[in-house]
Amino acid sequence: MSDVSVVGLGEMGSALARALVGAGNGVTVWNRNMSKAPPLIALGATAADTVAEVLKASPVTVICLSDYAATLSLLDEPVAREALEGKLVIQLSSGTPDHARSFDGWIRDHGARYIDGAIAAWPRQIGGPEAAITVAGSEKAFAAAEPLLRTLAGNINYAGTNIGHPATLANAGLAYFAGHWLGFVHGAAVCEAEGIDPAVFGDMMAEIAPMFADDMLRMGKAMAENRFDSAEATIKTISADLGWLAEYAERTGISNAFPRLAADIFQQAQDAGAGAQQHGAVIKVIRPTSNSHRDA
Ligand code: NAP
Repeated sequence: MSDVSVVGLGEMGSALARALVGAGNGVTVWNRNMSKAPPLIALGATAADTVAEVLKASPVTVICLSDYAATLSLLDEPVAREALEGKLVIQLSSGTPDHARSFDGWIRDHGARYIDGAIAAWPRQIGGPEAAITVAGSEKAFAAAEPLLRTLAGNINYAGTNIGHPATLANAGLAYFAGHWLGFVHGAAVCEAEGIDPAVFGDMMAEIAPMFADDMLRMGKAMAENRFDSAEATIKTISADLGWLAEYAERTGISNAFPRLAADIFQQAQDAGAGAQQHGAVIKVIRPTSNSHRDA
């Protein structure tokens, strides 16, 4: 028996396996494409020949594949299902809260204890103080998983027993990053159009980054309290600004997709009567009209 098995040796799975070996654990690994195993074997890991074998090799298995569908496609065959009985499975593949809930039901039906987690780190940060992993599952399963988890990331956030919460926070973070990436790229294209090096833009944005941390704290609080009256810049003002950002893109041949999307959403908020409120009030036109999908 080894201490822990790892299924999935992509960029992230390999980083997890490296950290687990580096912390002195006996590690057994398996990947669909076993050409990714030799660097880990060189560090001291053992390779398994089959999914069932890798599950049987350790009391705990960490899974990090592209998504939950890939995980299920590997585990949902008779010998692998049998091997799950009595094991602790830590799934760190990304997905939606629905994927996590559905997989939780499936894996517990097959006699395994389950921890679902979402990684907020680059592979190179795994095993170090900057890496963060949010996990959920029963308190007993978390107690069993915690020592191994702490070798993977300096920040382990136990979100409690609601199995969908790690994926929820990861999805929320992804939404934020999508806006951040597209906004930065659009801004860089504006700079290029006017002869400013995007690196100068990067320096400027990095310098004012603390302002965004403050903004996130204020927006989260305003949304939690549903109070948007203390506006320093109103939705009406920002809506007009985004309108001319889209017009500038159209005139210069830069894609108008991102500013037009932002301008349209701010305009919807203004049309909904939030024009005099702060920017966080845009959530009024983003929220679902009901939460009925949760009860379906
Ligand atoms: P990756 O390098 O593309 O690796 C994907 C892994 O999934 C490989 O082991 C691949 O096997 C396996 N796989 C995919 N489909 C499969 C299938 N149908 N059957 C069996 N194996 C399958 O991706 P990654 O960067 O490691 O990401 C893995 C997970 O970590 C994702 O859910 C990702 O969102 C999450 N994550 C990644 C990062 C990051 O910075 N990389 C950060 C946070 C979270 P093969 O090698 O055989 O193709």
